[in-house]
Amino acid sequence: MRYRDSMINYEKDDYIVSAQAKSGLIRGFAMRSTALVEDARHLHELCPTTTVALGQLLTANALMASDLKTDEASLTLNIRGDGPLHTLLTVGSKNGQVRGFADPPAVETIYTEDGRIDIARAIGNGTLNVSRDDGLNRRPYVSSVELVKSTVAHEIASYLYFSAQIPSVVLLGVKLSPDGVKHAGGMMLQLMPGWDDRLADWLEQRAQGFPEITYWFEEGMNPHQLLDLILGDPDIKYADPARAAFRCTCREERMLDNLFALPADDIRELIQDPAGVHVNCHFCNKHYHFSQDTLSAVLAARTAGQGD
Ligand SMILES: [Zn+2]
Repeated sequence: MRYRDSMINYEKDDYIVSAQAKSGLIRGFAMRSTALVEDARHLHELCPTTTVALGQLLTANALMASDLKTDEASLTLNIRGDGPLHTLLTVGSKNGQVRGFADPPAVETIYTEDGRIDIARAIGNGTLNVSRDDGLNRRPYVSSVELVKSTVAHEIASYLYFSAQIPSVVLLGVKLSPDGVKHAGGMMLQLMPGWDDRLADWLEQRAQGFPEITYWFEEGMNPHQLLDLILGDPDIKYADPARAAFRCTCREERMLDNLFALPADDIRELIQDPAGVHVNCHFCNKHYHFSQDTLSAVLAARTAGQGD
């Protein structure tokens, strides 16, 4: 089957699909994020631990952001801990576009007893902050939970349960190969109002016995088929899927705005340097250079503007 550029190749592309099942009592989201996580690894020169941790958080962010109401709305996830990996920050919008970074981008790899990369120990004790901006120039809705010191998927499920009061199953996976990201993806299944204990138990059991997401991708399954497999509902109703990608929103103008938001003394000092100013975008590592002439001209224009 051939696909046009604007369409999604379900067997290959990164995309998100949502669905309703069990008479609308379960809402499911599934995603392939392999290329997206590989882009993050490449842009930020991530190590194995930060590739897995940031890759899982980017995937969770895209899944959670897919029910935002407007194109301008955004969801920010920020994990901060006292371990060697002290910051993970991601921002996602409704259309599957996410960006984010890990600070530091590389840490020593610690393994769990069963041979997995130990993300919880790399992060340590800390918090997960979630900020939802509806894009309507109102103050973002912010909430914060203590980390339960488990997998990224458990941290997100715990937030959804305790802070957003949505019983959810979250499955996230990033599988590495010697040269990068082999498979990445995730699923989020939520109980909708009207659910009962029987349905909750059933969903929990399904999730517990469910092989890892990356196993299914290895087997050639796509996100639609993952929802089909875990929910086993012949009447499942899929919404239109959306292409997902790592995409930064930084622009030259925005980087200048950030520079000129500094205290006036700092700006004057920056402008003294004949080499100009070099800045890197936190989110995508893109490099920007502003010459002394550009900075002086912008400062003059902005100072004049303030006098109006
Ligand atoms: Zn950027």
